[in-house]
Amino acid sequence: MENGKDKLGIALVGLGSYSEELASALQETKHCRLAGIVTATEAKKEKWKEKYELPDKNIYDYNNFDSIKDNKAIDIIYVVLPNSMHAEYVIRAAAAGKHVICEKPMAVTVEECDRMIEACKNAGVLWSVGYRLHFEPYNLEMIKLARQKTYGELKTIEAAHSLGNPKGWRLEKELAGGGPLMDVGIYCVQAARNITGMEPLAVEAFEGRKKDKEKFRTVEESLTWRMEFPNGIIADCSSSYSKSENYLRVEAGSGWFELSPAYSYSGIKGETSDGKMDLPQVNQQANQMDDFALAIMNQRPSPVPGEMGRQDLKIMQAIYRSMESGQRIEIERELALH
Ligand code: NAD
Repeated sequence: MENGKDKLGIALVGLGSYSEELASALQETKHCRLAGIVTATEAKKEKWKEKYELPDKNIYDYNNFDSIKDNKAIDIIYVVLPNSMHAEYVIRAAAAGKHVICEKPMAVTVEECDRMIEACKNAGVLWSVGYRLHFEPYNLEMIKLARQKTYGELKTIEAAHSLGNPKGWRLEKELAGGGPLMDVGIYCVQAARNITGMEPLAVEAFEGRKKDKEKFRTVEESLTWRMEFPNGIIADCSSSYSKSENYLRVEAGSGWFELSPAYSYSGIKGETSDGKMDLPQVNQQANQMDDFALAIMNQRPSPVPGEMGRQDLKIMQAIYRSMESGQRIEIERELALH
């Protein structure tokens, strides 16, 4: 147990829409609690302070953030900022000696991922990426059906995740690192890696025609891509900012299994060629944060470490290189993390 506490204190950095979701999940966690916030907006400080009964000493802004190192009530810093800010805040959190959770995508370049991994290693802190679906029963069932070969050898995977109406920093490459691939397509990359338990050998990607050239000036509006895995397994994926899609389907030698929706915060539904899946609905974020707190308390690694986020970045960068060059890109093989 960290410092003899039964619940570790989490400070959320960046109080946007996903932090609202996390704060609500933190009301249901067993091993951690919302202990602090980091924000530049005075109105949010007041609102959050009152709503979650936070003491003044646990409320920070981006300038005094580093002094969080002296605050024993904060054990974990959860970085929920625009993507290009993740590296700086994970590295500053590690320097403050705090364990860190970083939202997906972990960063905008592999080089940043390397610096983040190194900083956390040197500081001796545990850290993980906010991959909530690793704590969701339907997604875990898909992995189990695939790995146990319940329906025989895997043949194809189809995955799509698209969300309409992006705004603000998500439309600026400098802050987001890319368009829908970085934001929601990343779930398809994750799903294909988790289902196969392998790393793709090559990728090939195509950008969709931009219907709104002004809005999507610096990022793609939509794309499709193929990931080629060992044993001839193919994953065909798509992601867009102009429509709504949310499914994961696997065809195997003697049957199929699928989720639709597959990546939502709740209401995930699954079916196999034998009938409907019947699994519990859970609070994914609460499970994810509790697992991280337990990993710290029990001094074990997180099942969603920074290295997993780095590998996704590496694959997404290859997907972008393919999309821009029109070439199929072979990915240098790395040890699977599964
Ligand atoms: P958001 O725009 O709602 O919030 C971003 C926050 O960052 C805001 O509070 C904003 O004030 C703050 N911020 C600080 N500096 C900023 C700057 N220079 N420009 C813009 N905002 C700035 O975004 P969000 O949807 O909460 O996303 C935040 C992170 O969480 C992203 O990395 C995103 O990919 C991730 N996310 C993950 C999930 C998930 O399911 N795991 C879901 C949504 C978002």
